[in-house]
Parts: sequence; structure tokens; C-alpha cells
Amino acid sequence: PPTGRKFFLGGNWKCNGSKDSIKKLVDELNAADFDDDVDIVVCPSYVYLTQVVGSLTKRIDVAAQNCWRGEGGAFTGEISADQLVDVGVKWVVAGHAERRHILGETNTVVALKCAYAISLGLNVIIAVGETLFEREQNLTNDVIFEQLQSLTSKIADWTKVVLAYEPVWAIGTGKACSPEEAQEVHLAIREWMKKNTSEEVSSSLRIIYGASVSSSTCNDLAKQHDIDGFFVGGAAWDGKEFAAIANSV
Ligand code: PGA
Repeated sequence: PPTGRKFFLGGNWKCNGSKDSIKKLVDELNAADFDDDVDIVVCPSYVYLTQVVGSLTKRIDVAAQNCWRGEGGAFTGEISADQLVDVGVKWVVAGHAERRHILGETNTVVALKCAYAISLGLNVIIAVGETLFEREQNLTNDVIFEQLQSLTSKIADWTKVVLAYEPVWAIGTGKACSPEEAQEVHLAIREWMKKNTSEEVSSSLRIIYGASVSSSTCNDLAKQHDIDGFFVGGAAWDGKEFAAIANSV
């Protein structure tokens, strides 16, 4: 693309799936036609990570949906970034709205886990975004800039980061943000990053859009200058639909 930023597609399977349904989905992904000029990452639940790592034959990477914020140890129920590396996982998601708002993760916790994961060589998909209340109060930029401020205070190496703008009010609703609305926020993020990191980080950072993306909305969204790909939930459960989004024009 003229931006020099390679298109990126993440499939967030959330807390869904079983051995059987995931096998079926992986078979569909292995059979699907993906353009060469797109990076693709899928995010199964922890317990299926090794199944998916071991059964994907396509050049699709695998991400965990979360990790502990530092080194492992006496943290019952957590999974450390070191363990993800150990089982061959290359990516991890951090800051998803469901973790921020349902599990209570703060900006600081999100930033700490990103910094630790990056220090181990993992790539991270970091999600930011505002709630409906915040948007209605005209706080969209303030909220996102605060999330970014925490991230930039802890992350030095941005080459391993893909940033996902996910308006919380549009996740899982079937009603995506309009391309213009999304572009406005993506541009604001890029400008903030330019001011607070560097021109180089800002112009090479992939900022992807997530929330109710489907094969019918992806093309108009993908045409926006600062939208460099997608993070997809519901539409990631159909191999053909997912491939159509990967091949957005
Ligand atoms: P959705 O989920 O595509 O189902 O809206 C997106 C996400 O939560 O990442």
C-alpha cells in the first residue's frame, strides 16, 4: 500500500469454541485463499493454543488473548508470557475492552503486560477505545490518549506493536463505526503518537479497526488512509468470511 504499512488481520475467538469447532475452523482457514500482502493472526483460548499452533498449515500466526503482567510465579490461574513463548506462540493481545471493562484491567496493568511481553520478543495487539458514555460526553480522544500515555510510558520498542482501535459501543453489536468516524480517531491516534513518540514510530505503526467488521463493511473501512487492517470477533468464525476481510480492497 502507498502507506508502506502491511495490512493486518486479527481474528479474536474470545472465550468460544471447542476442540471440534476449532478443528473445523482451522480446516477452513487452511483451505482459504489469502492475499500475500496481509499479516494474519488468530487468537484462540489458552487451552487450544497448542492445538492451533500445531494444525495451521497456512502462514497464519497465533496469539494468546492475554498474559500475566510479568514473570510467572505464585499467580494461580495466570499464564506468563514466558510460557507463551515456550509453546511457540508469537503474539499476545492486551487491553481488549472486555478485559478492561469486565475484568477490571487498568491502563497501567495493560502497559506492564505489554512491556514484559515485548521484552521476551512477543508481538502484541493492543486494544484501545472509548465507551458509549465517553463518546457521548465528547471524551473519545481524552480516553484514548490516556490509554496511549500509559503505553508510551512503558513501551520503548513499538516495532512489535499493532494498535487496535475498538470503540467499545460497537463491539459485537453488528453496527460498525462509519469509515469516516473510524478514520478520524485513527488519525488522532497517529498524530498523538507522532507528538509523543516519533515521526518514524507514528508513520510505521499499524492501527487496525475492530468492532463489528464484516465482509460487507470491510472494504469501505479499508480505504481509509489510517486504517491498516482489522481485529475481528464474530466474523472470524467463518473461514470464507475471514478470508474476504483479509483480502479487503
Ligand atoms: P466483533 O468483536 O467483531 O464481534 O464486534 C471485535 C472484538 O472484540 O475484537
